[in-house]
Amino acid sequence: MAIRFGPSGNSASFYEQGNKKSVQAPGWIAARGLNAYEYSFGKGITITEPTARAIGEAAKAHDVEISVHAPYYINLANPDAEKRSGGIEYLRRSAQALRWFGGTRIVFHPGSCAKLPRAQAMEFVLAMLKEAAASFFAEYPDVFLCPETMGKLNQVGTPAEVAQMCAVHDNYLPTVDFGHVNAREQGVLKTKADYAAVLDTLENEIGSDRVKRMHIHFSRIEYTAAGEKRHLTFADKQYGPFFEPLAELIVQRNMEPVIICESDGTMAEDALEMQRIYLGILEQKGEKI
Ligand SMILES: [Zn+2]
Repeated sequence: MAIRFGPSGNSASFYEQGNKKSVQAPGWIAARGLNAYEYSFGKGITITEPTARAIGEAAKAHDVEISVHAPYYINLANPDAEKRSGGIEYLRRSAQALRWFGGTRIVFHPGSCAKLPRAQAMEFVLAMLKEAAASFFAEYPDVFLCPETMGKLNQVGTPAEVAQMCAVHDNYLPTVDFGHVNAREQGVLKTKADYAAVLDTLENEIGSDRVKRMHIHFSRIEYTAAGEKRHLTFADKQYGPFFEPLAELIVQRNMEPVIICESDGTMAEDALEMQRIYLGILEQKGEKI
């Protein structure tokens, strides 16, 4: 394990430089000094086995760790039991593709409250995660399912809720999207203490080991009273959040997370910026890089 930084999907510059296919992405990412890559099945799992295996080979050759993002339409809080089970089926299919890639982490959105009381929605999600755990992790023992903290008020996935989900089984690993947390709570993440509170919420529930290895999404996100509105780039300074306080905590707490940037078009560039900030703090502390 080591800390890793990388983009979600391909930066605009990847295509501007003449690249066309994601099989070229791992080499392009590694050439920039990055070492993680998230492949999104947000709109569906359409990749073929040969393509996924080719991307996986390239990733292995360049020491780039691939994670996948499961479809956005998964909703483990759906009032319809069949649709809740369907969500687990999409996680299973994501795991199949992840195996072709040679990765270990699947990020997913737990679900939406819609018209349900929040407690009921959360109960559905926890019940599904409990029910799925035994057979899923028997089939995919090396896979981590990573429920994500969400940006809109009516979605399930506050840091405390994600902590509870991860308490169900050791192979659930938190994904904290700090942009989402900040957007949902109207710009709450400013100081190191604000970030520490999020990490502590998780640690209190599942201990420090998994928090150290957790999955992180980091991007600036515009928000309204309802929470997340849209992803921005690091060039935008209005909404935050800012990476520096989190980077200090990562160094202080010896964390080795995978940090994925979901900026709008500049995800590789902004991932590099985060890596630069992190390395700068390490250097200040006189650590060997
Ligand atoms: Zn997500």
